[in-house]
Amino acid sequence: MEFSREKLKKTAEEAFAVGKDHVSLGHVAEYIPELAKADPNAFGMYLLDGEGFSLGLGDHEKRFSIQSISKVIILAASLMLRGFDGTFSHVMMEPSGDSFNSILKLDTRSNLPFNPMINAGAIQTVSLLADSMSFEDLLELSRRLCLDPEIILDEAVYHSESETGDRNRAIVYLLKSKGVLMSDPEKTIDIYFKMCSLSVNAKSLASLGLIISNNGIDPFSGKRLIAADHVRVLRSLMFTCGMYDYSGKFGVRVGVPAKSGVGGGLVCAPRGPMGVGLYGPALDAFGNSKGAVKAMEHLSRTLRLHAFDY
Ligand code: GLU
Repeated sequence: MEFSREKLKKTAEEAFAVGKDHVSLGHVAEYIPELAKADPNAFGMYLLDGEGFSLGLGDHEKRFSIQSISKVIILAASLMLRGFDGTFSHVMMEPSGDSFNSILKLDTRSNLPFNPMINAGAIQTVSLLADSMSFEDLLELSRRLCLDPEIILDEAVYHSESETGDRNRAIVYLLKSKGVLMSDPEKTIDIYFKMCSLSVNAKSLASLGLIISNNGIDPFSGKRLIAADHVRVLRSLMFTCGMYDYSGKFGVRVGVPAKSGVGGGLVCAPRGPMGVGLYGPALDAFGNSKGAVKAMEHLSRTLRLHAFDY
């Protein structure tokens, strides 16, 4: 890294303060009733560099549901199980430009979902796994990739999702009706809901980011957890599609592979290696954590983390 630990710490503290200042401008997600209970003022951040530097700020220990960030783990699982061609013959890799739960283009422009970072694409990707991997297998993989053995299923969020997930059910049955879904729709959607309901904290997300930033190797144990070729795919799709229909602006302004979730989480995997995990359930109009996006803008600009800062 081209900056000192002191500079990293100082900049992270500034970024945290900038993010915290913006939290009041966001709103917690309400379409999943359980998410509406989150404290809109909560804000936490965790940074890790794999060489002993770690910093937790604010509500970094607070557990929350991973939501769409599980799409990164689902894609990693599919690449491991089915490989690149076996995955991308069933889901595309194009940004959709639509909201995360949109059905629009799925029915009019294409037979396959646009990418694995939106609901339709993640649901389709789960269908590639559902006959070979159980939810328990995916939970185990999530614990390994987040270096967090304490990740559990948040039952309340899972039931809330499942009871109100009509749009996601519509997606899974639309995929079935088009003949592209690769497993049973109920089995598929149940695993999808459960994966969205994993309870993580900012440190779990920072660890996931660090492993992605470190080419798939856990820097603490030296073990390879994800193949380097697969990490390149994860980073690329996080960069182009990870921030809903704000992905383009985030790519220009922040420029690091990232994935957000409507539970308020954000994982970032800048060069370094470095992992940043953020939590702020007050969201902007795109569904991204308001404070987390602002904090990352400051961090990236000040430390020149943008992928295209040559
Ligand atoms: N469980 C959420 C849904 O499917 C995930 C959405 C998200 O975090 O983007 O609606």
